[in-house]
Amino acid sequence: MRATLSALAGAVALTSASLATPAIADGEVNIYSYRQPFLIQPLLDAFTAETGVKANVVFASKGLGERIAAEGDNSPADVLLTVDIGRLDGAKQLGITQPVVSDVVNENIPAQYRDPEGHWIGLTNRARIIYASRDRVEQDSITYEELADPKWKGRLCTRSGQHVYTIGLIASMVAHHGEEKTEEWLAGVRDNLARKPAGNDRAQVKAIYAGECDISIGNTYYMGKMETNDKEPEQKEWAKSVRILFPNAADRGTHVNLAGIVLAKNAPNKDNAVKLIEFLSSADAQKIYAETNFEYPVTPGVEVSERVQSWGDLTPDSLSLDDIAKNRKTASELVDKVGFDNGPAS
Ligand code: FE
Repeated sequence: MRATLSALAGAVALTSASLATPAIADGEVNIYSYRQPFLIQPLLDAFTAETGVKANVVFASKGLGERIAAEGDNSPADVLLTVDIGRLDGAKQLGITQPVVSDVVNENIPAQYRDPEGHWIGLTNRARIIYASRDRVEQDSITYEELADPKWKGRLCTRSGQHVYTIGLIASMVAHHGEEKTEEWLAGVRDNLARKPAGNDRAQVKAIYAGECDISIGNTYYMGKMETNDKEPEQKEWAKSVRILFPNAADRGTHVNLAGIVLAKNAPNKDNAVKLIEFLSSADAQKIYAETNFEYPVTPGVEVSERVQSWGDLTPDSLSLDDIAKNRKTASELVDKVGFDNGPAS
């Protein structure tokens, strides 16, 4: 029901957007966004102030890629804003993108966070880290490899192995260790689970707070969302019960994923779209975009917000997100093969 409603809301938003703004008008850019309007509006206002280009946003939580595909040549979409390499590369695989050709973007964004062919561009990083109980975990460092160590038996909570966030992490393990070793590792991690994978990243921290597990796997920005949650203040208590350990900080670095943007294949306002992507790739824009969702700018040296910095230092894995994209299918097969989502083997 929820999916249907949001799809409907998306369709309504789309209709009104296309009625209110002719697709091919000068001085406009049409943004299809999976990211909530409040996250991007301050930046779009700054973009319009700087360039005079009006930015129209169509927000939906699902189905925008498919809609662009269905609209085909007549699609009003110029760009699609989304999160996770699975969805960025998914848009490329869907055939709804075209390469961004821009020296500005190539200079601003490190190569590991861009598609080598230019079909997707990362704008911010989120790290997939370990939430550790302040009461029951003493160690100050951890590795992903160590999650398979029997010392964690019955102590680990995580969301589904098939969720894009988990797939990205497992794909990075395949890239580093190969398929066979990753399968062994994943079976070890499965055996350490306190319960069947279920719920989102925050639900795992809630489980640590409740004493059901001692460590969980999650994205960094959820710490910020919990710490500042005035609507559901109990989440502040969940956050207080954990601290963040950045896996592999001492060796290859912590697995990171992207929030990013693609240029639509039939973008009617292509020049303005490239202008927007160049604008968003700038250090200042990355900083603002990262801050609104407690993320990290992708360009080293661009300042991280105080709250995010308070969680510790992030050293990102230097693996390219393209390498992760290439190993996603293998990762997904391994999740099924070891029965990860069935929970610990008895
Ligand atoms: Fe998320």
